[in-house]
Amino acid sequence: MLNPKPQCPIHGSTLHRSTCRACNAAYMRAYYKERRANAPDREMLDRARKRARRLDLPFALPKDAIVIPDICPALGGPIRTSGTRSPQSPSLDRIRPDEGYVIGNIRVLSDYANRLKGNLSLEDIERRAQTADGQRQIEYERLAEYVRREQLLAEVRAKAASLDGRAGEVWSEVARFLEKAFIRADWKR
Ligand SMILES: [Zn+2]
Repeated sequence: MLNPKPQCPIHGSTLHRSTCRACNAAYMRAYYKERRANAPDREMLDRARKRARRLDLPFALPKDAIVIPDICPALGGPIRTSGTRSPQSPSLDRIRPDEGYVIGNIRVLSDYANRLKGNLSLEDIERRAQTADGQRQIEYERLAEYVRREQLLAEVRAKAASLDGRAGEVWSEVARFLEKAFIRADWKR
């Protein structure tokens, strides 16, 4: 049962979804609103899958791959899953845009941070950090810091995967430690 009840401008709350497009649209709007509120991670996964298809990018994320933090790992502001979409809404970043939606290349940021990052590479972001000023400069610097951090983490994970036995375990441990440390550092902002 959807809450609030979808309303068609023609048929009210008695929906005729198979024959009325406005009924169906009202239903779908309510459905997605509800999903954003109750299962934002699953909704983001669905959107990422569609986006990957549209942009012809790799997609290989398991169901539980998306973790929504309370604080944006790039810019440090709060992330809010409730209500309508806003700059604080969660948004799935492809750390290196061309590599697509694969483990190790995604992170949930605030919608604002993700829009600012767009399809920029680390070099693009660093360049902008040098030419922007005021608040924008701080934001680009933080974005660059975030991407560098993620790249370091990706290198450590790759190292862990390339080594067998005890050495591989040690590097996996380093990756887990780094990830936790990065998250803690973000919370202080
Ligand atoms: Zn209708």
